[in-house]
Amino acid sequence: MHVGVKTDVGRVRRANEDAYWVSPPWFAVADGMGGHAAGEVASELAIESVRQILQSSTGAAEELIPAAVRHANATVWHRSRSEPALKGMGTTLTLLKLESGRCVIGHVGDSRCYLFRGKTLRQLTDDHSVVAELVRTGTLSANEALEHPQRNLLTRALGVGPDVKPDILIEEVQPGDKLVLCTDGLTSMLSDDELCEIVSSSLPPDTLASRLVHRANERGGSDNITVVIIQLEG
Ligand code: MN
Repeated sequence: MHVGVKTDVGRVRRANEDAYWVSPPWFAVADGMGGHAAGEVASELAIESVRQILQSSTGAAEELIPAAVRHANATVWHRSRSEPALKGMGTTLTLLKLESGRCVIGHVGDSRCYLFRGKTLRQLTDDHSVVAELVRTGTLSANEALEHPQRNLLTRALGVGPDVKPDILIEEVQPGDKLVLCTDGLTSMLSDDELCEIVSSSLPPDTLASRLVHRANERGGSDNITVVIIQLEG
């Protein structure tokens, strides 16, 4: 397995409120939100909380992941209630465990996990956003969603309430597959076709991650950008 990672502040924001965790077989990205430095605190705290739980526990990933996400939610929620400057902070979290022949994903928010196989890129996670729900019900087209004024409004986030229910996905993986975890700073700048074109290259995953971030910055880099690419042995 080869892994490439890149995180970047982008061209507009002053701080990088994204966080990531790469410790095979575990991989995660988080995109924090909140005033001042609160977003940074939320994403770091969420990653640190799941890391502590997952590295000290044994058991089936589909049971460990929801428990770890709930623990992270409670940690961020209590911290936001105990410090006025952190009030209202929250974060996305997309967490993946790679096992032999499959991966297990826990997901809250609008960061994404994609699977690239053959020539095709498929988004495995559903965005928990107002706009994505309108697209799923057919009220809005995918193109209209890109320009929608409420495209950043989440319907589910970690740490903004006393509990959260993550989506849990189990996907079969094959030799040669690539898994991509990313924050919306990438996907709000690049279409899935552009993403697919870059990810399909046979260059090392580190190079691909850098190219994706570079392209997002060329398009304006209006948000923090984080990409993790996992290339399975072919
Ligand atoms: Mn973002």
